[in-house]
Amino acid sequence: MENIRTKAYGASGTILVGKKLELMEIERQGPAPDEVLIEVLYCGVCHSDVHQVANDWNNTIYPCVPGHEIIGKITDVGKAVTRFKEGDIVGVGCMIDSCKQCKSCAQGDEQFCMGTHGMTMTYNGYWKPNDTDFNSYGGFSTHIVANEKFVLNIPDGMDITAAAPILCAGVTTYAPLKHRQIRIGDKVGVIGIGGLGHMGVMLAKAMGATVTAITTDKEKKKAALAIGADAVLISTDKDAMKAQEISFDFLLCTIPEEFDVNPYICLLAPRGSMVTVGLLGPYKSPTNNIEMAKYSRSLGASIIGSIAETQEVLDFCAMHGILPQVEMIDIQDINEAFEKIRDEEVRFRYVIDMKSLK
Ligand SMILES: [Zn+2]
Ligand SMILES: [Zn+2]
Repeated sequence: MENIRTKAYGASGTILVGKKLELMEIERQGPAPDEVLIEVLYCGVCHSDVHQVANDWNNTIYPCVPGHEIIGKITDVGKAVTRFKEGDIVGVGCMIDSCKQCKSCAQGDEQFCMGTHGMTMTYNGYWKPNDTDFNSYGGFSTHIVANEKFVLNIPDGMDITAAAPILCAGVTTYAPLKHRQIRIGDKVGVIGIGGLGHMGVMLAKAMGATVTAITTDKEKKKAALAIGADAVLISTDKDAMKAQEISFDFLLCTIPEEFDVNPYICLLAPRGSMVTVGLLGPYKSPTNNIEMAKYSRSLGASIIGSIAETQEVLDFCAMHGILPQVEMIDIQDINEAFEKIRDEEVRFRYVIDMKSLK
């Protein structure tokens, strides 16, 4: 297949003072026999997009075109594609391929692919499974190419203008709730009520848990109750935190920046557990292992989920009428949106109407 040139918004180098995402033309590999070409209709803006273009994890390759919450329409299919046809409305999340041969892939855990190069990330992915290096470009672009096994079905009737954040924020919060087997009557706390957190609240609630939204921001109280939280705990209120100690079965923590984990550990009930999904780096201070040990508490972390789990969360959201709360923007507003995300001024999630890139 011939390469295709498309318009995109990306960063040509590290975003330092004065540098911004800009309109650019990129070249993608056209669809291989088992790949599909997708016209991007809507793309969510994830907090990790901001980290990636800023090279906060020291692994960014430029040019960097972010975007891994993609809703689109199939415009071309490779010869061997069986699951999709032109015109299908589909989703693409955080990965577009993997080796499909290792133990993790065989178990349907592509996100843990142990092939030479691991999964191919939707953007900033270095390698194809056949060992050819390239740079993958994400959804801030008119089109994207993905292996058909990594393309998701969007359930009939789902509002496609709002669904995009399910593909990263949704599965990232769904997977740990599922693996912790959250069930009716569990007391669950969701820490940080932004893009990830608001999905966590709605998903845990639909699983039957009693859900407390835990936030530093008093302003978010009304919004958290409106999306279904049973209670709101302000984490800067020491008395309120004290009153909730040793009571939570599970805590899902979505804080994206370095923070002190110890006050949250104290909230966990005996054998309770906490999973961090926002922070990719060390906690601000060492964990207090006395507090951990004396109630046999556990602490874990998680990123994204498998392709099967991504489909599961889409179907779960459709079944329970869950939709991300989004604010639609044009691609030309992206630099302002990044600043607002960095300053935590966005309420839940921005979604780009990709018509604006035409
Ligand atoms: Zn993301
Ligand atoms: Zn693999």
